[in-house]
Amino acid sequence: MFERKTFQHHYEGVMEPFRIIGNVYFVGCFPASSHLIDTGDGLILIDTGYEDTLHLLINSIYRLGFSPYDVKYILHTHWHGDHTAATAAFVHLTGAKTLIGAKDEAKVLKYFRPDVLLREGDTLQLGNTTIEILETPGHTEGCISPFFTTTENGKTYRVGMFGGAGANTLVPDQYDYDGCVADYLRSVERLKTIPVDVFIGNHVWNNDTLVRGEILRTTGENRFIDGDLWLQFLDFCKNRAEEVHRKHQA
Ligand SMILES: [Zn+2]
Repeated sequence: MFERKTFQHHYEGVMEPFRIIGNVYFVGCFPASSHLIDTGDGLILIDTGYEDTLHLLINSIYRLGFSPYDVKYILHTHWHGDHTAATAAFVHLTGAKTLIGAKDEAKVLKYFRPDVLLREGDTLQLGNTTIEILETPGHTEGCISPFFTTTENGKTYRVGMFGGAGANTLVPDQYDYDGCVADYLRSVERLKTIPVDVFIGNHVWNNDTLVRGEILRTTGENRFIDGDLWLQFLDFCKNRAEEVHRKHQA
């Protein structure tokens, strides 16, 4: 679980778009996830990905039967380019409004100028969907994690994402800000208290999107519905962060 791979060019990570559950769709690439939520009154996109995978994102949205011009909001989990570099071009094309954690504003300006700055407890409401925003600093100072519900076959599921799980910014010369390691560990502990039925990945290795997506497509079995996966992943994040931190303290 939580295996990674790398490519020379981002577009080599092309993936099939698919519906994860209810009104939630995967439209990203390996390894940078993008998700689309069909609210019934327009679309919400979570993260846009790299500049050189913009065409794949747009293609994925069309292939699912939607139009990028119906994206009303782009919610960004944090300022890093693998989540935001395609945003300026996407906004130029569609006029979608952009949102990001307030404390990531200064750094994301190199990619785009956000319309809305998010803080703890804010919500993004569109159509049938209300996304609750939690500040989960650590990976970056303004990293946010989104939570919302979706329904499928009469059942309601709690959907959630850890908006910045990577330990790459938890080593001294890569720190996003002072105190980020302690914040990261606090964020992880806090996220563990939030029940999540369907864990969507900020990167595809977070929840093995590739494997679960393939099983879903070929057998119809939905292994994204897995309350334990969320907790397993958060434990993995905690252990890895502590290990990285220990190694660099030594
Ligand atoms: Zn990042």
